[in-house]
Amino acid sequence: MQSVSRQPESLAPYASTEASSRGRRFPEDPPEHRGEYQRDRDRIIHSNAFRRLVYKTQVFVNHEGDLYRTRVTHSMEVAQIARSIARALNINETLTEAISLAHDLGHTPFGHAGQDALNASMKRYGGFEHNLQSLRVVDELEDRYAAFHGLNLTFECREGILKHCALKNARQLGDVGRRFIERKQPSLEAQLANVADEIAYNNHDVDDGLRAGLITLDDLSEVAVFDRQYRQVITLYPGITARKAIHETTRRVINFVVSDLIRTTSANIAKARPRSVDDIRDRARPLVGFSTGVRKEEQELKRFLNERLYRHYKVLRMNAKARRIVSQLFEAFMEDYRLLPPEHQEVAQRVERTQGASAKARAVADYIAGMTDRYAILEHQRLFDPAERT
Ligand code: MG
Repeated sequence: MQSVSRQPESLAPYASTEASSRGRRFPEDPPEHRGEYQRDRDRIIHSNAFRRLVYKTQVFVNHEGDLYRTRVTHSMEVAQIARSIARALNINETLTEAISLAHDLGHTPFGHAGQDALNASMKRYGGFEHNLQSLRVVDELEDRYAAFHGLNLTFECREGILKHCALKNARQLGDVGRRFIERKQPSLEAQLANVADEIAYNNHDVDDGLRAGLITLDDLSEVAVFDRQYRQVITLYPGITARKAIHETTRRVINFVVSDLIRTTSANIAKARPRSVDDIRDRARPLVGFSTGVRKEEQELKRFLNERLYRHYKVLRMNAKARRIVSQLFEAFMEDYRLLPPEHQEVAQRVERTQGASAKARAVADYIAGMTDRYAILEHQRLFDPAERT
C-alpha cells in the first residue's frame, strides 16, 4: 500500500508496515494525511460497536458502580499497555493500538456469562464465539460507509482481531482463517495485543474485586506476583492508605510483568532472527511471551481470580441472571421474529428465506450480541414483564 506513513523510520524489519501490508478487502485510495493503520484505528473509534462498549460488562455489571471497568475502559487499558510495549520492541505501535481497541467489539452484554449463554443457544446453528463476532462486526455488521459493508480494515488489523477461532469456522474465513488451519502465528503486533489483554484484565480485575469487597488483601497474600510488590510498598511507605497501597502495588505488578515480557520477547526475537513479518507468521509458536517464572506466576494469579472472584457467589448470581436474559431473548425472537425491531426483523426474514434457519438464528444472535447490558435488561422487561411498556 502506498500512503502517507506516520511511523518512525526505524521500525524493526519484522514489524508490520504499510509497505508490506496485504491491504483491504475493498481497495480504497490511500489516506492523505494519516497512515493506513491510523485510518483503521479511527474507523474503530467511530464505530457504533465501540461506543456500545461503554455499557458492556467486563466482570461487574455496569450499574453496580461507576468506578468499575467496562469493556471500553478495559480496551483502552489494553491499548495503552500494548502501545508502550510495541514502542519498546520497535514494532508498529499504531497497528497494535488499533487491534487492542477492536479486540472486544464482538463481546455480548454481560461479559463471559452472556457469551456462554449465546453460544449455548446457538449450538444447533453453528455456535457463537466472541472473537469471531469481533471480526464479523468490523467485516459485516457496521453499516456506515457508502462503498462497502463493515469498516474495511486492513488484513493486519483483521488478523489481530481474530485471536482464536474453531477450525470449522477458520475454513470459511479465507485469508484470516488460514493460520489456524496451518497452525501458524499472526504478526508480533497481534501477539502483543493478545498478551496485553491478559495483563490488563488480570490486574484490573484484582483492583475491581478489591473495590467490590469480593476479595481482600489478605486473600491476595497467596498470589506471589501481587504479594511481593505489596510487601515492598508497605515497607517503603509505612502508614500508606489501603487504596493507595493497592494502586501502587498494581502499577508495580504491571511494570514487573511488562518488563519481563519485553526482556523475554526481545531474547526470543534475537534467537529466532526473523527478517520479515512473514518469518514471524511462519513460526509454530508465538515469540511474544513471558519467562517461565513469570508465566507460572501469571497462571497462579489467573487461578486465584477464577476461584475467588469469577466464582464468587455474587458474581455467579449476576451471571445466572445474565444467562437467563440472553437465552430467553434468543428463544423469544426465534419463536417469532416479528418481535424484533423492524430493521432486524427485515434481515432475519430475508436471510431465513434465502439461507434457512441457521441464518435467521445468526441474525438474532447479531442483534443480541450488539446489545449493551442495560439495553438487554430493558428489552427483556419489554418482552417478558406485562407491566412494562413495549
Ligand atoms: Mg479483552
